[in-house]
Amino acid sequence: MSAPAFRFACTRCGHCCSGGSGHVWIEEPEIEPMARALGMSAARFAERHLRRVVDPNTGVERLSLREVANEGGRCALLVGKNTCSVYAARPQHCRQFPYWERVLTDPAAFEAARATCPGIAVIVSAEVRARAAGELRALYASIPECASTDERCCLERAPEELFATGMEADHALDARGVSDVAAPHCRLGAGRPLACRASRAGLAPEEVEALQSRLRALERQLSYPASYARVEELLRSRGGAD
Ligand code: SF4
Ligand code: SF4
Repeated sequence: MSAPAFRFACTRCGHCCSGGSGHVWIEEPEIEPMARALGMSAARFAERHLRRVVDPNTGVERLSLREVANEGGRCALLVGKNTCSVYAARPQHCRQFPYWERVLTDPAAFEAARATCPGIAVIVSAEVRARAAGELRALYASIPECASTDERCCLERAPEELFATGMEADHALDARGVSDVAAPHCRLGAGRPLACRASRAGLAPEEVEALQSRLRALERQLSYPASYARVEELLRSRGGAD
């Protein structure tokens, strides 16, 4: 078995650099450029940032980047929330994600990568997207109209707080050209997701939770690849950030 067809566009969220302990394999020629990016000698870089570990796939000892102790596998070269301090010189292992052989050939590894990385968007057939669109329209129609007087689009007002499912992001892109008189301010128009509608309608948390349960049930019913991430990240991974 292999991974399903997918699109990929890195959102630079940094999840793959901090989401779980593992190995970032380094080849000798990659050391000097990374050291230079940090303004240090190769020897100092190796001492500070590299460790020797046995590759569990081959039993051969290799170089790997160090992780920050007790921080759940965070790469020591990640600074701030999601900035790689050697980005232009980052190793091939990082550059090639998620196109690693294991991710492409092992369904469990693919699902683990997809759970970590909002940049991976499984391509869903037009038929399933159309069925999802019909169900989403019905679900959205059950939400009261916008009660907010704030005229800004939620993607401008609070992009950090706006999360959605991949199914909603696909629908939002499919419906993007359809304007909605109830939300003339909205960049996504008729396809705007539940989170946007719920916050503007002023729904109570338990009402939002009930609607999210319906979304999850819909994903299961349609076998839609489950995903949940920031709307901006989901749109970017699907080539529709603007
Ligand atoms: S989108 Fe994926 S590859 Fe890019 S930083 Fe986030 S987790 Fe890593
Ligand atoms: S080297 Fe950069 S891209 Fe690679 S895991 Fe570390 S922070 Fe992420």
